[in-house]
Amino acid sequence: MAEAYPWQDSLWQQMAGRPRHAHAYLLHGPAGIGKRALAERLMASLLCHNPGSLNACGECKSCLLLKAGSHPDNYVLEPEEADKAIKVDQVRDLVSFVVQTSQMGGRKVVLIEPVEAMNINAANALLKSLEEPSGDTVLLLVSHQPSRLLPTIKSRCVQQACPLPSEAMSLEWLAQALPDCTDEERAELLTLAAGSPLAAVSLQVQGVREQRALVVDGVKKLLKQQQSPTQLAEAWNAIPLLLLFDWFCDWSNLILRYQLTEDEGGLGLADMRKVIQYLAQKGSRDKILNIQDWILAQRQKVLSKANLNRVLLLEALLVQWASLPGRN
Ligand SMILES: [Zn+2]
Repeated sequence: MAEAYPWQDSLWQQMAGRPRHAHAYLLHGPAGIGKRALAERLMASLLCHNPGSLNACGECKSCLLLKAGSHPDNYVLEPEEADKAIKVDQVRDLVSFVVQTSQMGGRKVVLIEPVEAMNINAANALLKSLEEPSGDTVLLLVSHQPSRLLPTIKSRCVQQACPLPSEAMSLEWLAQALPDCTDEERAELLTLAAGSPLAAVSLQVQGVREQRALVVDGVKKLLKQQQSPTQLAEAWNAIPLLLLFDWFCDWSNLILRYQLTEDEGGLGLADMRKVIQYLAQKGSRDKILNIQDWILAQRQKVLSKANLNRVLLLEALLVQWASLPGRN
């Protein structure tokens, strides 16, 4: 049974309580807030043979088959490997599932996540199933980046926005999910996760707070010339490149912002505030804009999984960063 999150209560009532269901829904919103869980919960409820309550009963034949992963009328389409594309052949298999009649006499339900993992051929293959509804089939499309979807896909779905929970609600939930962290640590994780509570939990599990502490300490030593770019590039060996580029990008933003506003409330997480202030005072605006452009361009390469020499790239970043306080 998919987990029910407190920030989805009214969304759930609204979606599951519809007197008639649409042929296709597009659930969209930021990653890490439980859209997949909401879709799975809806899938179970749509397949359940016991009407009467919004939630699936968990006991009927349909619920038991779903739990066992052997329900004949349910289909989950996702990339075969994490972060890879959904292939056109996978979509063709789905299309032939959609045209079959239901084996248990009820609805058929399809879940696709993330929809943006389909390339244009795969998306076009899916369009036919969206255009020509087949019997009692409901398609649940989940997207973290709806701006990347074909307009023809979006227009054929009932769109359901799934908003980020409020900070207060996320922190309340995190208090239960991460009981061993302090309030301050939970708030820090939530900031690092851009407000997504489930992402905050996975950051904690991945040890991101420890990694951040290592990087912040390294940046301070770099600026004091106690450690070289080469030493740091090696010491940060286990830290995901994208995470590093996200942090440096974030820091360059904070420096530029502080130069303009001198607002001490806008210095980001406590661990880097002094460094941000120092670099804002010592570094020229041009230099910081240059390094930011460079970071954004490299980040794009990291995202596109280009073949990069990790150590060389980090050294190049750190050499530039170390030169920020200088005159040239
Ligand atoms: Zn049931």
